[in-house]
Amino acid sequence: MAASSLTPADGRARRLRTVRSWRLWSVPPKALALIIGVEVLTVLATAVSLVTSYSQCLTVSATTRLAALLLLSIAYSEITHRMQRMRRYLGGAVLVGLHSVWAFAGVLILPIGYSAVLVCGVFAVAAMRRRQQKAVAYRVTYTGATVVLATLAAKVVATAIQPRIVTLPAGALTALAITVSAAAFFLINTVLVIGVIYLASGVHSLTALLPAREELGLEMATLVLGVMTADLYLRLAWLIPAVLVLMLLLQRSSLVSQLEIAATTDSKTGLLNAAAWQELSQRELLRAQREEAPCAVLLMDLDHFKRVNDTAGHLAGDAVLKAIGEALKRELRGYDAVARFGGEEFVVFLDDIGLEEACQVAERILSRIRGLVIPGPRERISLTASIGLAAYPQHGEVITQLIEQADNALYRAKRTGRDRVELPPETPTDGAG
Ligand code: GH3
Ligand code: MG
Ligand code: MG
Repeated sequence: MAASSLTPADGRARRLRTVRSWRLWSVPPKALALIIGVEVLTVLATAVSLVTSYSQCLTVSATTRLAALLLLSIAYSEITHRMQRMRRYLGGAVLVGLHSVWAFAGVLILPIGYSAVLVCGVFAVAAMRRRQQKAVAYRVTYTGATVVLATLAAKVVATAIQPRIVTLPAGALTALAITVSAAAFFLINTVLVIGVIYLASGVHSLTALLPAREELGLEMATLVLGVMTADLYLRLAWLIPAVLVLMLLLQRSSLVSQLEIAATTDSKTGLLNAAAWQELSQRELLRAQREEAPCAVLLMDLDHFKRVNDTAGHLAGDAVLKAIGEALKRELRGYDAVARFGGEEFVVFLDDIGLEEACQVAERILSRIRGLVIPGPRERISLTASIGLAAYPQHGEVITQLIEQADNALYRAKRTGRDRVELPPETPTDGAG
């Protein structure tokens, strides 16, 4: 049917269908209530802030400041959107955006109404880009709303402590106002983001929800740069583009360290990946040889894991892999290298340990796995695993040889009934096997 023959009723029905298809409606009720509450509050707070500060806003100086910060932040997101997307893709649950540099500069030198307008402007541009990238719309608007609320709260706090904050007068009061308002900005933003993830995802472990230490450091650096941007604008406005360059460098170096972590980590379990494990273990084995210390390689494969996927589904299977990874880490010492070797196989390098003790560790791991009860979609999941063990110096001199021997042992454990630890069927006499 041609578009021109659509009646107004057709148009309404289509709009209704579009609204019904929003991903927002699939969010659990409590998280939905938080999202809608935060967004309504943001609209109200922005309106109130504009009404109460319109006389300060309608000045040439304030409008020039808003225009300058808006331009800088849009230029920044235009230049960095690819890097930002990569950071989001590589990062964990909570990522505080580096755009806070402009938002926080706005907190300090803009009237309250304009500080909210600045954030709205930046997120409106981001929302248009996300639309092209088909990103989830409610996430963009919710993130924007949390930054607006954090900005407004930080501004209220800063002005309460130092009423002349927009001119950044030197002195202890200004320093205090900046510190407390930065803390308020960070706290409100983080609590609202963690809150919605907590309610929507069912992740209830605080360590999984809290931002990583590097992320915290980056956020702090961002806020400090926000203060510097505000100060620079007041004193040496022509130097402002230097902040843009600094931000790009900061963004790039944070991306590099995230890439380094991603290159060595198995994303499903957070353990090392096979390549990183092999490199690390090879180094540790050489060290053991120099120091004439024993060590061991332990290869573990989950028993009948295919059944878990077949009965509970692939996602539940993934949750099991994660739970097994955590169980392994808990059972081992911090310096034992643990990796997901591929599929449902795990590998451990046990440092400075003799064959007998390594067998005990392996038995302990199996007993921990036997005791695991993992929530599944219909019923709880329990399972067992089999382990093959090879030790230096008894079973090999190089890491590939130890892995091969552990694999032979694992095969034997599978053949002789599973849920057990086995040693290599025979010890090679030399490197040629
Ligand atoms: P066995 O006791 O002999 O080891 O039986 P098994 O069923 O565990 O062994 P098999 O090698 O036949 O099956 C392993 C299964 O692991 C098949 C594959 O679908 C599943 N698998 C591999 N990687 C992943 C993954 O990343 N996630 C999930 N959910 N399943 C995976
Ligand atoms: Mg298996
Ligand atoms: Mg397998």
